[in-house]
Amino acid sequence: TAEVQIRSVSHRFQSFTALEGIDLEIAAGEFIVLLGPSGCGKTTLLSIIGGFLTPSEGEVLIGGRDMTRVAPKDRPTTTMFQDYALFPHMNLRDNVAFGLRMRGVGRKARHDRALEMLEMVGLAAFAARKPHALSGGQRQRVALARALAVEPDVLLLDEPLGALDLKLRRQMQDELKNIQRKVGTTFIHVTHDQEEAMAIADRIVVMNRGHIEHFGTPEDVYLRPRTLFSADFMGEMNRIPVRREGGTSISPLGPLPFDLGEGLLCLRPENIGFDGSFSMGRARLQEVAFFGTHHRCHFVPLKAPDLTLTVNLPQGAHPAPGAEVELFGRDPVLLSE
Ligand code: ADP
Ligand code: MG
Repeated sequence: TAEVQIRSVSHRFQSFTALEGIDLEIAAGEFIVLLGPSGCGKTTLLSIIGGFLTPSEGEVLIGGRDMTRVAPKDRPTTTMFQDYALFPHMNLRDNVAFGLRMRGVGRKARHDRALEMLEMVGLAAFAARKPHALSGGQRQRVALARALAVEPDVLLLDEPLGALDLKLRRQMQDELKNIQRKVGTTFIHVTHDQEEAMAIADRIVVMNRGHIEHFGTPEDVYLRPRTLFSADFMGEMNRIPVRREGGTSISPLGPLPFDLGEGLLCLRPENIGFDGSFSMGRARLQEVAFFGTHHRCHFVPLKAPDLTLTVNLPQGAHPAPGAEVELFGRDPVLLSE
């Protein structure tokens, strides 16, 4: 395992700037997720760490050593691509042992290691099978076993779960996390799915148009976003404009009991309800939808009928549609536009 430092990395494809001023300090053994919409530069950054691209500017250090211009095969990294790229004519054991063979590891040692890796991903019993006899999830596990067999210090994963259905995806997320804990390798994992990021990451890098919006724990980026982009990308957010008048913050719902300054008061739907740290005034329940784990409600504040508040309430906790209740908020964040 090794730490990874990205220092002032920028990358241009001809005149197009794909990455600009990226700085990241990743600790050894961390599970890092690069998260952002399609085209924000995730694959470009991962390719720069893996050595498939040389950045236009900046440095990449792995284990404290400058790797910026070192070829992929000479880096202590392995990249796992989405299409798994297993060899169809080889059985699972030989697939997993392939990288070791390339490195000149003897037959017995590499077979032992391959079986140990297949054991770890729960596929030791299938060692003699060929990849075509496996499900998508099983193939995914073989690819992971193969990537880890060569004991990289850093494993790079580019949307590895993108092709799996939702249930299998969830299961593989848990498995990836468990395996990462077991081996202690630094994982840098790319996804555009914020739920996946929160489920597996120690820390999330939220990216947008080639720059970093926020780098923090899942709790940080979800509960204390630094920018409106991160706030919206991580999930639904109510926004209430706030201005300042004579030392108090005023919103369309009335004056606030604290002075936050000016900007947008942001509250997650689960942080509005029948109790909280400040009153948001009375509101009328307009619509309710059942989401299994909660009811999603739309409330219209009586003082600001052109605002709609989205509120997630526990099952059955909502009043009848049309009813008027007092709403309270907690853990608001003030962000600028
Ligand atoms: P992501 O993985 O987040 O979807 P990428 O890193 O693949 O995004 O791409 C970032 C941006 O750089 C995109 O706008 C993409 O079109 C552009 N890009 C990526 N590769 C190339 C390339 N080889 N030549 C020109 N533009 C590229
Ligand atoms: Mg990509």
